[in-house]
Amino acid sequence: MKIVFAASESVPFSKTGGLGDVVSGLSKALVKKRHKVYVFLPFYLKTKRGVLDNYEFVDSFGVAMGNQMIGCNILKDVRDDVTFYFIECGEFFERDGYYGYGDDERRFSFFCQAVRKAILRFNLQPDIVHVHDWQTAILPLLLADAGLKFRSLLTIHNPLFQGYFNPYNLGSYLDLQEYYYSSGLLRFNDQVSLLKGGICSVDAISTVSRTHANELLSDFKAFNGLGYILNNRRFDMFGIVNGIDYTNFSPDNDSHIVKEYDYKTYKEGKLANKKAIYEKFGFNLNELDCPLFTAISRLTSQKGVERIVRNIPQLASQGAKLVLLGQGDSNIEQTLKDYCNQYPNTLKIYLGYSEELSHLLYAGSDFFLMPSRFEPCGLGQIIAMHYGSLPIVSKVGGLNDTVISYYDNKANATGYSFDGWDENGFDYSIGLAIQMYYGHSEELDNMIKNAMKEDFSWSKQVNEYIDLYKNLLAR
Ligand code: ADP
Repeated sequence: MKIVFAASESVPFSKTGGLGDVVSGLSKALVKKRHKVYVFLPFYLKTKRGVLDNYEFVDSFGVAMGNQMIGCNILKDVRDDVTFYFIECGEFFERDGYYGYGDDERRFSFFCQAVRKAILRFNLQPDIVHVHDWQTAILPLLLADAGLKFRSLLTIHNPLFQGYFNPYNLGSYLDLQEYYYSSGLLRFNDQVSLLKGGICSVDAISTVSRTHANELLSDFKAFNGLGYILNNRRFDMFGIVNGIDYTNFSPDNDSHIVKEYDYKTYKEGKLANKKAIYEKFGFNLNELDCPLFTAISRLTSQKGVERIVRNIPQLASQGAKLVLLGQGDSNIEQTLKDYCNQYPNTLKIYLGYSEELSHLLYAGSDFFLMPSRFEPCGLGQIIAMHYGSLPIVSKVGGLNDTVISYYDNKANATGYSFDGWDENGFDYSIGLAIQMYYGHSEELDNMIKNAMKEDFSWSKQVNEYIDLYKNLLAR
């Protein structure tokens, strides 16, 4: 099959969260199964400053945005046999960050228009166009509007972001006729929603776990009414759990950690990495036998960070430690700074983004906290399990589908998961984890080995996507 991906991020060129890992891991896995994959990405300032220095210039053209013609270059780089095309446009992508600008909808409308033009100029003729989240959801409609024949899949990685703009701008952003709005295809809460337009125009929709797919379909009101829209497409809705790329995340082959290890040698390996964390953050090395918790996350209310904050006094009183790596909401960041001053022997934080530090924390920690309010899939807990850091998670979305809870199945447990709505469940699980840690329990050792042996590799998960693509092509 010839598959075109369009996405707003992909490792190693750009990443803010799981989406970047998934686009990279899935495209590599598809190529290994001998499919042709072309990935379209924006050429961000960070991409330019970072790893991309050996690209090839392939094309240059203008895109009409209303009565303005905006130029862009198309650059190409081939990595692991995946062909990446970058849309370079200073006006839209040469900025310090990736998202969060007032004109994001215009930026990604431009991106989709540029990708359409490139696909047509390069005569790519894809069998499948696979788009991801609101930023690229509208591309299949644009291609179909230009007369191209293909099958399409939209994967929703986070339904919270729906890409809204004023319908007045439809012609100038997307070069689409007004009837796409007045017919209701693009209209959502009286605005254009790029995500809704995608949902209503693709052949199939997927999200990144079965439980989250069911959650979306079972609540009409959720996410501004997205549940209702998705219900109209429930027979074309699928849930496929993400994999992780073990070439990027494996404790037995990881240049970011101080000692590599596997499930047989995890005790020495994790201890050496824990020591490195203590040294880096200034914890007392005489306290290496304390349980070390970590959280690595965007700091938003989705991730339940306030649940973690609430437990800092409990961690302190029970002799545990927590290192938190994240960035996001400025109120949450300030609260964390305050707690850090109050509990210097318990809490250390790194407010920012660091791939390197994240690996060390996965490797050196004993427990990984992810008490999300909702979680389409979540990669943090999957990576943590592979590094033998036991996840403590709420039982929602992909967290439910990936962690085997100690409360449900002691022999095969890979972590602790509590009912997502039970406020006490998280606090109780932290207490239990500390108790089991100090008890040097055999059960804990068994859980760590179970977790490390779980297989969430893309080489396994990719087959579900291939089956879905084939199913679409057979329609
Ligand atoms: P989401 O995509 O909702 O942010 P996921 O759990 O699916 O959450 O994916 C998060 C990914 O981003 C993981 O690979 C995690 O290690 C990484 N990550 C999150 N925050 C940071 C950070 N501050 N520094 C480094 N990596 C981070």
